[in-house]
Amino acid sequence: MRKEEKTILRTGNNRFLKEYNQAGVLDLIRLHGTISRAEISNLTGLSPTAAGKIVSALLKIGYIHEIGEGKSSGGRRPILLELKPNSFFSVGVDLDIEGIRFVLIDITGSIICHSFNRINKNLSFSDVIKKVKDITEKAAQDLKIDSERIVGIGISIPGIIDTENKKIITAPNMQWKDIDLETYFNENFNVPVYVENEAMASAICENWIGCCRDLSDFVCINIGTGIGSGIYTGGKLYRGVGGSAGEVGHIVVNEKGPKCGCGNYGCLETMASIASIVERVKNLPTYDSISKKYIQGNDKDMDFDTVLKAARDGEEAVKNILMESAKYIGIAVSYIVNVLNPSKIVLGKEFVKYADIVIDYIKEIVKCKALKHPESFLEISVSDIGENSSALGAAFIPLKILFGR
Ligand SMILES: [Zn+2]
Repeated sequence: MRKEEKTILRTGNNRFLKEYNQAGVLDLIRLHGTISRAEISNLTGLSPTAAGKIVSALLKIGYIHEIGEGKSSGGRRPILLELKPNSFFSVGVDLDIEGIRFVLIDITGSIICHSFNRINKNLSFSDVIKKVKDITEKAAQDLKIDSERIVGIGISIPGIIDTENKKIITAPNMQWKDIDLETYFNENFNVPVYVENEAMASAICENWIGCCRDLSDFVCINIGTGIGSGIYTGGKLYRGVGGSAGEVGHIVVNEKGPKCGCGNYGCLETMASIASIVERVKNLPTYDSISKKYIQGNDKDMDFDTVLKAARDGEEAVKNILMESAKYIGIAVSYIVNVLNPSKIVLGKEFVKYADIVIDYIKEIVKCKALKHPESFLEISVSDIGENSSALGAAFIPLKILFGR
């Protein structure tokens, strides 16, 4: 049994307690999959009458439904309850320089639809949020979902975010700075909107459905256009005093490296982000012959998929760049292991596209460079969720609130 199930709900009848207990019972149903009223009463400490009242309220709203009879332990066979699929929904959006990743999930966490929508670079936040509105409305219309059945929208942004006050402090890759989001949200949506840093959103996703489900101390590192991480410690997301914890992309791994957007030289992001890998391939002395061989059509630029094609095809110089980037990821991971002593580090986002080529090398570097004691507790994994992890994590934020987490 997961430790969260042992939560004893409180008795009383004020409105706060009613909502608090409703969320707790709903979460218990989610964790069990199927459960009877008697089991809810036993597990929560609520009286059978109080548990029955909460179940009736949840049935009335439509979050849950009855799915037939379970096994009897003597008397009448109990009626089983479960979350009602397709009853309520949540939207998750991941904003990136490349485009908008959109997911719509239902209350059970199943993905109902998802899409990737390219956007022009340098769009203002206002333009992007209007696009998010259009995509959301179109999906809801196609699936015939009223806005009352959408519990909320979570938005993931690559930058330093003040989640509580809904502000973008800085998102350098998007060229967004000091943006108050509440006004934009109120203008465009009539459901609650939440905002989260993209790597922290992925960490939420890994913790909710991914490979870190029962872990309380882990780090989720996203490798994409930039590099960031979401840190869980003691079962909670660690934000730091100003909300910027986890900026591992700016760990200096090579003082002689190129200048980073932050002003320093040789940050991890300049040595191992997807953008930096593509840039270094373009600077190879043999680039002309590589591009002739792998890029079809004169107007097409080198992109990461083409880089991977060349590496898999045996282009040594390209593969060496991937291996070198992996070395720097390994160095940064060993620092994180020494400082935080996590049980797992999960590498995700675009990393999953080439993990098979570099993961063993990264593990070797960490084994050499990290201290033996913290390293002995560590497992390094590749995310099995991949590119949708931030959008999904963002979609789980409204659900977490609904389930009282
Ligand atoms: Zn930097």
